[in-house]
Amino acid sequence: MLEPFAALLGRGRVGAFGCYDTAMAVGVLRALDARGGVILVPAATLRSEPVVAGLRAVAETARVPVCLQADHVHDLETIERACRWGVQAVMADGSPLDFEDNVAFVREAAAIARRHGVAVEGELGRLPGGADADAPIGAGLATDPEQAAEFVARTGVDCLAIALGNVHGALLPAPRDLDWGRLEAIRRAVGVPLALHGGTGLAPEVVARAVRGGIAKVNFNTGLRRAYLAATAAALPVAEPAADLVALHARQADAVEAAAREALVGIALAGNSDLVGRL
Ligand SMILES: [Zn+2]
Repeated sequence: MLEPFAALLGRGRVGAFGCYDTAMAVGVLRALDARGGVILVPAATLRSEPVVAGLRAVAETARVPVCLQADHVHDLETIERACRWGVQAVMADGSPLDFEDNVAFVREAAAIARRHGVAVEGELGRLPGGADADAPIGAGLATDPEQAAEFVARTGVDCLAIALGNVHGALLPAPRDLDWGRLEAIRRAVGVPLALHGGTGLAPEVVARAVRGGIAKVNFNTGLRRAYLAATAAALPVAEPAADLVALHARQADAVEAAAREALVGIALAGNSDLVGRL
């Protein structure tokens, strides 16, 4: 069932998963527990209404609470289109811009989203790497707690993505640890739910500590893409002789399900009361 973004994040401990087609979304849904999760619609996918409609249709079949979020959108036209096509949240990503331009962009994006009853996530600070394809590009910039408070107040975002040493993609070394002091300072300064992108590659203990420290949503994408491609490569010798697309799609969904389950281990650990004080 579809659920508003704010309600889903309000309960915390939510995984969000990049889905480029319906096979991926089917795999993700199978991995979700009763807490539900977020189906991320990558900005590149927001060029095709049928693909977004397909992802939405899969989400509507979920037996747990799910919402659709447009991910890493850098322009207002795509924000508007995503809202019209039925997402429950948009991530208006102005992180490549300087602070004032980021505020201005997200304010405009939020105004559009509000007209459609859609929630908004902004990003302050910057993650190195590519969001849709792994690339060792860009310099990271850690989120400043005071600026984060000002950013949230001026933009009215419902959720803030922050940079604590986390990276996008598998070509950059995944951090063994994050800047926990910074997370604590941001959590004290900011009242809205916080998002951690670049979940792939982080040890489950690190994800668990981040969630215990105030991260409400952890985004995963790279690991799902890699699992999907590896399953496709492995399935082709079997599927190709018989031109068996059903077998191919089944293996893709199975691989994405396994990758999403693996991603959720850290989030589940965070909810384990036996670990209080140890993370
Ligand atoms: Zn991201």
